Amino acid sequence: MKKSRLVLPPLLLLVLLCCLLTLRIPNPELGTGRSEGIPAPARTGARPPSGGSCGNIQQVYPDNPFSGWPVDRFTGDWRSISSWFCDPAYFRGYTHWGLDFGARQAPASDGGWLTINEAGVYFTADRGVVIGEAHDGGEHWGMGNHVITLHVNCTERCGTEGEHEEEGQYIYMQEHNYPECYDPHNPIHPDLVLDCVTDWWRGSYFHFKVTTVEAGDLVERGDLLGYIDSTGRSTGPHLHYQINSPTAGAVDPAMTICSEYDPWLRSSWPWERTEMCPDY
Ligand SMILES: [Zn+2]
Repeated sequence: MKKSRLVLPPLLLLVLLCCLLTLRIPNPELGTGRSEGIPAPARTGARPPSGGSCGNIQQVYPDNPFSGWPVDRFTGDWRSISSWFCDPAYFRGYTHWGLDFGARQAPASDGGWLTINEAGVYFTADRGVVIGEAHDGGEHWGMGNHVITLHVNCTERCGTEGEHEEEGQYIYMQEHNYPECYDPHNPIHPDLVLDCVTDWWRGSYFHFKVTTVEAGDLVERGDLLGYIDSTGRSTGPHLHYQINSPTAGAVDPAMTICSEYDPWLRSSWPWERTEMCPDY
């Protein structure tokens, strides 16, 4: 009896360390630290968004339209963050250009680890256009099944479906035969139409099991994008969430997912984080 008590704590520690290591997910495709140009609004066959500068750690960009917790499990719980932007503990030789949401550690008495597998992922800006999407289980440069979105600002007007779009502009029918637009004497512009233009901010969500949107879709805040899995270059179920600015490359999502951020979080172990994001 005495002997087994002595052996158990180091064994537990080893198991915990192993779990932690499996949550550090390599994404070697995510850039080499170069800043990037403005992307073309390609709707299919998207390549991964590139990296940026680790000088962007904890930088706040007032024009960043992406905000809020993107996962509906462990929402607001910092213990579920398994890898930070430019995490120094990330796989050697690779820079991590996003934020990983993974398993949440619970006290051993509560069962140890709680998986994030199959949790829902939600769009985190007011409006966006899906410019990249895959659900075939392929590698896709490490992204696996994924959704890449381009933020857009939209204005409403009366118009018709299927109008010509300029580069960087998207036209969406909001409602067919909208009452305020419909005039039986002039039925040319009966629909409520959204004219949307991009500011080139992008939000990317990787390693899905299934996706629930398609390239070209208009998405709004809170829309379901898909469910978490471990597809692509990933060693355990997690969401890789990445925000790319128009000019500074990838930025630190930790500054946007919660209204309050404590720099201490980055240097803490997951099980040390007791404060919840007050938004949730
Ligand atoms: Zn990641």
